[in-house]
Order: sequence, then structure tokens, then C-alpha cells
Amino acid sequence: MTKITIVSCPTCKADVEWGEHSPYRPFCSKKCQMIDFGTWADEENAIAGAPDMSDSDGWSEDQY
Ligand SMILES: [Zn+2]
Repeated sequence: MTKITIVSCPTCKADVEWGEHSPYRPFCSKKCQMIDFGTWADEENAIAGAPDMSDSDGWSEDQY
């Protein structure tokens, strides 16, 4: 008897079978994995990119 564990995809909340059938677990697909990855990357960029934003303000002032 094999016990099947079902988890919820963190991105779309779909049921994902925890096993070899789901290489992207806990995500249901590579797409959902990338979406979750992108969310984290965006948050890190927002923090790390803050100093850069003030740097580029000089450029936009020139353009105005
Ligand atoms: Zn999903």
C-alpha cells in the first residue's frame, strides 16, 4: 500500500501529488514555481534597488 500525500500548490492552491510524478512539488508545475520564484526576486530587488532608484533620480531631473 502506498500512501499518497497531497499538498497545495503555493501559487495556485491546486492539489499536487507529493511524489515522483510532481518534479516541481510543492508546486503543480514549473510555471507556478517560476511565479513564486519571481515574487521573491521582486521583493529582494525592491530592497536592493532602493539606493539605485535615488541614484537614477538625477537622470530623470535632467530629462525634465
Ligand atoms: Zn500551481
